[in-house]
Amino acid sequence: MTAPKISYATCPLCEATCGLEIETREREILSIRGDAQDVFSHGYICPKAYSLKELHADPDCIREPMVRRDDKWINVSWDDAFAEIERGLMPILDESGRNALAIYVGNPNAHNIASLLYLPALLQSAKTQNFYSASTVDQMPKQVSAGLMFGTVLSIPVPDLDRTEYLLLLGANPLVSNGSLMTAPDMRGRLRRLRQRGGKVVVIDPYRTRTAQEADEHYFIKPGHDAYFLFALVNTLFDEGLVAPGRLTEYTAGLEQVRWLAEPFTPERVATTSGIDASTIRIIARELAASPRAAVYGRIGTCTQEFGTLSSWLVDVLNVLTGNLDREGGAMFPKAAAGSRNTTGTPGHGRGVRFGRWKSRVRGLPEIYGELPASCLAEEIDTPGEGQVRALITLAGNPALSTPNSNRLQRALGTLQFMVSIDIYLNETTRYANVILPPPPVLARTHYDLALYQLAVHNVAHFSAPVFEREAGALDEWELFLRLAGILAGQGSQAHLSMLDDFVMTTLIQREVAQDGSNVEKREVGKLLELLAPRRGPERMLDFLLRSGPYGDAFGRHEGLSLATLEAHPHGIDLGPLQPRIPEVLRTPSGKIELAPQPIVEDVKRLLTSFEQGLTSSNGHMLLIGRRDLRSNNSWMHNLHVLTKGKERCSLHIHPGDAAHLELVNGNMAIVASRAGSVEIPVEITDAIMPGVVSIPHGWGHTLTMTKTRIASEMAGVNTNILSDEVEIDPLSGNAVLNGIPVTVEKAHQS
Ligand code: SF4
Repeated sequence: MTAPKISYATCPLCEATCGLEIETREREILSIRGDAQDVFSHGYICPKAYSLKELHADPDCIREPMVRRDDKWINVSWDDAFAEIERGLMPILDESGRNALAIYVGNPNAHNIASLLYLPALLQSAKTQNFYSASTVDQMPKQVSAGLMFGTVLSIPVPDLDRTEYLLLLGANPLVSNGSLMTAPDMRGRLRRLRQRGGKVVVIDPYRTRTAQEADEHYFIKPGHDAYFLFALVNTLFDEGLVAPGRLTEYTAGLEQVRWLAEPFTPERVATTSGIDASTIRIIARELAASPRAAVYGRIGTCTQEFGTLSSWLVDVLNVLTGNLDREGGAMFPKAAAGSRNTTGTPGHGRGVRFGRWKSRVRGLPEIYGELPASCLAEEIDTPGEGQVRALITLAGNPALSTPNSNRLQRALGTLQFMVSIDIYLNETTRYANVILPPPPVLARTHYDLALYQLAVHNVAHFSAPVFEREAGALDEWELFLRLAGILAGQGSQAHLSMLDDFVMTTLIQREVAQDGSNVEKREVGKLLELLAPRRGPERMLDFLLRSGPYGDAFGRHEGLSLATLEAHPHGIDLGPLQPRIPEVLRTPSGKIELAPQPIVEDVKRLLTSFEQGLTSSNGHMLLIGRRDLRSNNSWMHNLHVLTKGKERCSLHIHPGDAAHLELVNGNMAIVASRAGSVEIPVEITDAIMPGVVSIPHGWGHTLTMTKTRIASEMAGVNTNILSDEVEIDPLSGNAVLNGIPVTVEKAHQS
């Protein structure tokens, strides 16, 4: 029998990037442990990591390309699958134009280096304006506010968790999510150490989450009211003379405008609508100002609401006003080893960001960073007219469950003329596809967290080679992307992969070499390609990005990182604690932190109108919010027994007072209804939730036919996105409103 082998890899399942030690024999996983020598996670893992073993052997996983014929799926060769795609897709685009194709990219792509590096080539070949992703379902407000304030899409400050002494968290439950837009393995350990060194954690949330339970203080806030609360903190800082940006003053524009914008939002006025009393607001503002190392952090609850961008902006306004932005223990900018836009170009200023270069056809919503809001996808498919979407490519996404008004989207998907999915499951979305292309199993891929290290609370770099070799004949993910790109570029289904890869690589090099302040000598592209040989695919691109990056060896100009260095360090490389980066991190045209960007100033009027007209009342409805579970991240995880076993977790949480009023008892079925739809769900009474608010977790509802996710179907749950409303968005970012949805709740008739 073959001897067991130990491999080290980064967990690809969430944003925490924990190091794994995986013991295998041939193609079997024997055990998965935390890698005690990992420079970032130091042996920590959560229960989800163990599920990789079950995922690796899941009989429901798609291993070969599949083509649908009369509602039957048949396995085909790769060549036949791509030929089918060419035959199905190209006539539609020839007849109806490039915008007849939509592309939807799901959240797992953020963890996938092949997707991150080769998606641009696919989009360039597609030449469609109908590009959608999960970003407009959960995080676009933060990307918009960061872009407007600091100049690039991922210049998002993260709490310097290991040194902070005061942490104010809004709409975030990192003990369960393990951090989001904040890469930090072992959140529990980090928050405990924060408190052990005398620090304080304050949580603002309509739900007393696990994070709130372990915090020093927790305050309920009415869903969707974070912007009012944050503005009241700003108001207090100005009112009490506590504004002290310190060394940031000379790099900050718009301070006086912020003072003026905050004037109407006094703590007393905000208290009546937000649910947090005025004295508490003042105390929190004073504590923030007094702490020498404090950070404000807002996440999913602050993004997925009507005023998501304003809330995200105000989080960083507070970090600036209290002098905590860019100082140790405050909110700081990571310096990633590769792929970050705030480490390329001229340090200190840049072109900033631009939105609205095109608009969605039906609702006229502006493009944001090249994307249209996912909430528009259904109407772009089901509304007739020129430019109507008739074909779709989904990449590791399940929008039929995870985007608003999913009933409408499911109906729309059923009307498409052609659909292609890259996915490992036949799920609620891919069941509509004509062709499904399976990417390699997750542990048969190269891994480097190009995006997440841009958000890490400590600068690190960690490369993992595939734990398993790909099955003979299987394609790597970047090859799938390039073959699709070749078809869309009119080169047919047999495009020369090597030439396409060289083209993509050459384009990347030319763009980097052309940058002012490039870390790469103005050498000929051919010479650089020679230096990168014999690597191909994502490894070659990553090697280039590392060597031309801020810690890189600049192709031999000095000592520094290359992919070879990372390969020699299987537990990762520690690049040190976060360092102050202002002004060099800025890429705004002014070279300043834009504290009052015009689009945001304009949007404050909307907030003010809502505030003054009292539209923030729920008009007798309950307000629906989401909920995160430690063992669930994406909907596909519900097909793993190790993550779904035990008590049913898809239930309606409701406060005892509301339950009594509605005559609901534990285990009753309740009907929850919104403008978009209704669901029937078991009731779970808990005083962890704010009165007037109910909660349903997302990603469930595995009740549909024509899927093959057998374990998920056994513990199906209900789909909360039947209730979320595609009409409700945060207009600045186009982000879906998933929190604070007005709903009615009533007892279902017992059969
Ligand atoms: S916290 Fe995230 S990265 Fe770490 S083991 Fe769990 S799922 Fe994997």
